[in-house]
Amino acid sequence: MNKEAAGEDPSGEGRRVVILGGGFAGLTAARALEKSPVHVTVVDARNYYLFQPLLYQVATGDLHAEAVATPFRRILRKGSRHFILGTVTGVDPERKEVHLNDKTTLPYDRLLVALGSTTQFFGNDEITRNAWHLKGLAEAENLRSRVLFSLERSSRCPDPEERREWLTFTISGGGATGVECACGILELFRVLLPRDYPEIDPREVTVRILQGGESLIPEFPVPLREAARKRVEALGGQVSFGVKVENFDGRTIRFSSGDSLRARTLVWAAGVTAPALIRQFPGEKGEGGRIQVDNRLRIPEYPDIQVLGDLAQPPEGTHPQVAPFAIQSARHAVRTLLASWNLAPLPPPFVYRDPGSMVVLGRYNAVCHFPQWGVGWQGKSAWVLWLGLHLAKILGTRNRLLTLIDWGQDYLFRSAAMEILRPPQGPDPQDRPGG
Ligand SMILES: Cc1cc2nc3c(=O)[nH]c(=O)nc-3n(C[C@H](O)[C@H](O)[C@H](O)COP(=O)(O)OP(=O)(O)OC[C@H]3O[C@@H](n4cnc5c(N)ncnc54)[C@H](O)[C@@H]3O)c2cc1C
Repeated sequence: MNKEAAGEDPSGEGRRVVILGGGFAGLTAARALEKSPVHVTVVDARNYYLFQPLLYQVATGDLHAEAVATPFRRILRKGSRHFILGTVTGVDPERKEVHLNDKTTLPYDRLLVALGSTTQFFGNDEITRNAWHLKGLAEAENLRSRVLFSLERSSRCPDPEERREWLTFTISGGGATGVECACGILELFRVLLPRDYPEIDPREVTVRILQGGESLIPEFPVPLREAARKRVEALGGQVSFGVKVENFDGRTIRFSSGDSLRARTLVWAAGVTAPALIRQFPGEKGEGGRIQVDNRLRIPEYPDIQVLGDLAQPPEGTHPQVAPFAIQSARHAVRTLLASWNLAPLPPPFVYRDPGSMVVLGRYNAVCHFPQWGVGWQGKSAWVLWLGLHLAKILGTRNRLLTLIDWGQDYLFRSAAMEILRPPQGPDPQDRPGG
């Protein structure tokens, strides 16, 4: 490992900033530090930044994986910023060192912890093993392959019961991810089934959202929640409210009510939690294992460590784990950090401002809600706004062009950008070639 990248201070001024995780928060912090006279090292377990809001489109064949991933080294070329590919295994706050899985240590003067969250399986090993989820690129590609594999499998399945199981796609969780994923799968079927699978009657296919609460996308006002439900149903999907999935063995979903449902595919979109590793990190842990920080996002006992994004729990309350919170927390943390070296004025305490939310409901339809202006609506104009905003937020011209090409194919020619079934590495061994 080269000396600079390993964190040895080339400036000799004791301004080594190490950023753990290069997601929305970590990368925003690294970009905000581009022109500052500090030495920045970003550590991430993967070599690319992942635009998670469009992951479901990789799973539903709308986008190629390459469109939502940008290599860190391409982004961090300018300024005194470096990238290390490595998995963080721990932090020693007394010695001010980060430990990596290759047994190396990385010294810091200021540490920004932005390791994000992981899928919340509520400690259920069987669901963890058998359900599909959407967190990384591999998971999204695996889910797409699973959906395509299920169509292939059912298309030559003589047993009607088993065929129905293969054609039953369930999504646990009626939040934004669950709803977007369900609508995406339904849209994929509207394109693929009549064109490529004449042997499957679309009426045999079930796409069902299993929601514990009494409405979809509960963070939206009631009329928009209702609009989302109606849209899912208009696309041919079903919604079950007030159901709690207790187990899934790969063929049968069991509910806490005692009921069960035969289905081969369960997508788990029931929330996120802090990665297990965070339990050993310094600082008190709050809701969902998040690290409690002060109103400048610092761990009170170790003010040279700040926590950003999904992992941070500021004193003002629990925030939604979304990209705007990650971005705002990162920008604020950087200003506080620079102020601690007299490189910038100290900002006022951190306050999160909710810029609003959007959820896509398949092609040409979305809901959006902007609480600060008291407006929200559903329809094509919301979808156009969503499209424009997401295109603007994708990093890099190359990624934007790839996205535009895929979307052109999806939306103008009513096709799917990606219909390749890669050898899946999912939970179900039957997916493997010959399985
Ligand atoms: C499918 C999906 C859809 C979403 N859609 C939206 C949306 O539409 N709008 C919205 O606002 N939010 C959305 N979110 C939430 C949003 O993506 C997160 O709130 C945001 O990414 C949090 O930013 P972060 O920087 O804290 O974590 P992340 O962006 O998750 O980044 C964490 C980084 O840490 C790295 N990392 C983790 N552990 C280690 C380790 N041990 N060692 C080294 N590196 C590690 C990861 O590789 C990753 O790059 C979505 C999330 C998902 C999963």
